[in-house]
Amino acid sequence: MADFTGKNVIVTGASRGIGLTIAQSFAQAGANVAICATSESALTEAANQLKQFGTKIFTQVVDISSSENCEAFVANTINEFGSLDVLVNNAGITKDNLTVRMNEDDWDRVIAVNLKGTFLMSKAALKVMFKKRSGNIVNISSVVGQMGNAGQANYVASKAGIIGLTKTFAKEFGSRGVRVNAVAPGFVQTAMTDALPEGVKEKALEAIALKRFASAQDIAKAVLFLASEDASYITGHVLAVNGGLYM
Ligand code: NAP
Repeated sequence: MADFTGKNVIVTGASRGIGLTIAQSFAQAGANVAICATSESALTEAANQLKQFGTKIFTQVVDISSSENCEAFVANTINEFGSLDVLVNNAGITKDNLTVRMNEDDWDRVIAVNLKGTFLMSKAALKVMFKKRSGNIVNISSVVGQMGNAGQANYVASKAGIIGLTKTFAKEFGSRGVRVNAVAPGFVQTAMTDALPEGVKEKALEAIALKRFASAQDIAKAVLFLASEDASYITGHVLAVNGGLYM
């Protein structure tokens, strides 16, 4: 695993799930880690888990769809840690429905959190990275942003949009020493996938070349790779971590 000793990392949406595993992996690799979510109790619990690795942990309640919240979170992280090296835009939500039944509020909210939130957090972080002429952003997209998915028009549009943002940021900030990449996970084993009926699970697994769902660690390993010096000449890339579901 790459060494992140002394590096300062923000992971959004890290109170549970994939974000928490990404935060744990960075802390285990020596990084100070700032995490955010909208619910305070889950954040406090997550911070207690992260402290076992002995690095600095900072938490803040943040709604990433608010520019004030994003700017304050980045500013407070820098006050706590002194600098910022890596931003992982992981926070995301779903509000699924077939297009004809999807209401405007559900469209707006998913785009506001997933796509605008990624833009706002990146903008706040890029101002800092731009000045110090180094930094790294990893955005969490999804395989459905690459292949489409019935019943998820809002989510798919947000995740496809994140790919466009990633490539644009890479072009805008490459000359300033900032690399920007995305990870596009396939099915990840979570409480949600565990609860799927056996028939549905089997059908999903049939389409996956590796015949298993990803673990959150599979995703975290890809994020740490892109954020590390091992990926020093990689920018604007979308790394598929989908077990061969979509190639
Ligand atoms: P999850 O378990 O639902 O966790 C989402 C995290 O984001 C939570 O910490 C949540 O905390 C936080 N969050 C939600 N809205 C927020 C907001 N407005 N501002 C700040 N934080 C917010 O999700 P997950 O399954 O780990 O997924 C993580 C990322 O991977 C998402 O971007 C998702 O789209 C992507 N992904 C997941 C899968 C999968 O199979 N799970 C596959 C492909 C891509 P609060 O609820 O307290 O705000």
